[in-house]
Amino acid sequence: MSVGSPEIKAASEYTKRKNRILAERLGIDGENTVNSELELANKDCILPLKDYKVVSDDGRVIFDNSEYSFFEQKKAPDTVNPSLWINGKSNYAAGVFEVLKDKIYQVRGLDCANFTIVRSKTGWIVLDTTTFAEVAADSLKLLEKALGEPVKEKIRAIIVSHSHADHFGGLAGTVDEAKVGKISEGKIPIIVPAGFDEETVKENVFAGFAMGVRARYQFGGGIPAGVTGKVSVGLGTPGGRGTLSYIRPTEFISEDTVLNIDGLDVEFQLTPGTEAPAEMNNYFPEYRAFWAAENCSGTLHNVYPIRGAQLRDAAAWWRFTEIALEKYGVISDVVFQAHNHHHRNTPENPTAVTDYLRNNAAIYKIIHDNTLLYANIGKTAKQAAKLVKIPYKLQKAWYIRPYYGSVEINSRAVYTKYLGFWNGDPNEINPLTEEEEAKLFLRYAGSAENVLKLAKEDFENGRYEEAAKAAGYVVFAEPDNLEARYLQADAFEQLGYSSESSVWRNAYLSGAGDLRKLSTDERKRNNVARGSLVEKLTPRMLLDYLGIITDSTKLSEENRKFRLVTVDPLTAGNTDYKGKKVRKTTEFSVHIYYGSLLYYEGHTDEILKTVVVPEKALPLIVDTGSNAFLDAAETDIPEVIDIIRNAIVDVVRKAEFPMIEPNKVVL
Ligand SMILES: [Zn+2]
Repeated sequence: MSVGSPEIKAASEYTKRKNRILAERLGIDGENTVNSELELANKDCILPLKDYKVVSDDGRVIFDNSEYSFFEQKKAPDTVNPSLWINGKSNYAAGVFEVLKDKIYQVRGLDCANFTIVRSKTGWIVLDTTTFAEVAADSLKLLEKALGEPVKEKIRAIIVSHSHADHFGGLAGTVDEAKVGKISEGKIPIIVPAGFDEETVKENVFAGFAMGVRARYQFGGGIPAGVTGKVSVGLGTPGGRGTLSYIRPTEFISEDTVLNIDGLDVEFQLTPGTEAPAEMNNYFPEYRAFWAAENCSGTLHNVYPIRGAQLRDAAAWWRFTEIALEKYGVISDVVFQAHNHHHRNTPENPTAVTDYLRNNAAIYKIIHDNTLLYANIGKTAKQAAKLVKIPYKLQKAWYIRPYYGSVEINSRAVYTKYLGFWNGDPNEINPLTEEEEAKLFLRYAGSAENVLKLAKEDFENGRYEEAAKAAGYVVFAEPDNLEARYLQADAFEQLGYSSESSVWRNAYLSGAGDLRKLSTDERKRNNVARGSLVEKLTPRMLLDYLGIITDSTKLSEENRKFRLVTVDPLTAGNTDYKGKKVRKTTEFSVHIYYGSLLYYEGHTDEILKTVVVPEKALPLIVDTGSNAFLDAAETDIPEVIDIIRNAIVDVVRKAEFPMIEPNKVVL
């Protein structure tokens, strides 16, 4: 197989050497690729699961861990970074695990997240529910089998640590919705941090289509599992495909507090701005056990995930982790969390818990502080990212290795949070687009052939970043140049094989896969469903979303004002003071003003014509990206409906865009 041909290649000598050097530096045995974390990941398993499938009631395979049975081999293959190999192998350890005898258990390895139960006086408290209803339901059955006692019928409360789908998506498989309600009603509460609803929507709906496409690069959704494919998502084994469910939470924690839930004291530590905008840790004093949610996992996390999300705050992250350490770590015997495995104090390692929390706090603090130090002496974000170095002692703490987040991306995230995206170069004030820059580069280089000749030389000499960058200019200038596509694919592939971060590996290998696809249709990346989130949208959020998917050029001559009333159907909850059923309404005055969609939420005295839309029709905007909700509107100003209908962009269809070449989609 020669360079620049369509096939997937083996690891080059340069890649093998790079992987070997890292293994030596970290003290990883080249033949039997193991470390102390792999040992811990397999420890305390009371029901191991090999070749295990999660199957839905109608027979669909939701997750099959035999897809990852390549981890049975001892030696890391040449095509996988040896440190990432151990991370993947640790995640591959599936089963029911005993975090604390008789008290705390986890099902791990059937999803990227864990299913956790904590014993209360008469039953169990669930901490996070995995991504899918089927995985959650299966986890409960496995727990009952391993423990030999009922679990599902004894659930007393569910705590969801934060607003990401891999923590709440399994709710419907955990509990029957009819049993959910307030603690005061004697029902099963779903307890979440304040802000849970709004933040999820902001993260996943307003930019949802773009995020869906980009997420495939982060998680490797379009590439198969395997030694030349996806091996890990850093936090766990890549999840399967099941039903992402949602049930409305019943209690919102808005300050640090202690609740007694079914006879067990549970302390809540809010950690806003860390891994999620709304997130919280828990401490169980009776068990001397600390739940670190997703603030500390078995990896350095993302201050910025490449799928897209608002920048996280590295300063909040280290600070809340330091508080957790001083307040709870010093009185804990075990720390466990929603991803990866637990860490416990032992006679050989009596400070395992505090070490774990302190190392986590330290790495975010170093990245934060050093980035700003470099910024203050004039380094750019790209320069600072390469300059920030983690001290060797901390590099050897396996659970903060860059399996998910990376030092480089996190440093750029810190830089951007403080200083924004401008790098100080006036060329970047109103920069050329990627396509324009590529064309300029080729014009100055003379021809694509000249560029590719040098890029090939770089490739042959193991300079894969340079080769990929130069070949990428040709791809952006001439998307059908096969030589350029294959060369860039080959270079991405070698970069993927040596990446310690699963995110980098998945992105490089996804890019290589897309470059090797020859038909435009094949190259389009479709987006993922976001069904359950739609239920969280308030009428105001839906109006915001309507603004986003409206082509303002089509409204550029309009200046019209009307009243929009959304009506909730007659539901049991909506009654007036006499107990009579009423329709709950939300009222807006909407102003289509020369392309913009302004609105005021509330009643105004202005006399306006009215459009009435049933609230339940609004999610159709997001569900289908279409204007179907307008069909449900009642109004005496149908012309306004037509104007909006005409301006809505069919985002669902247009969101199938390619990533590694110019995007030709137009509104
Ligand atoms: Zn998670």
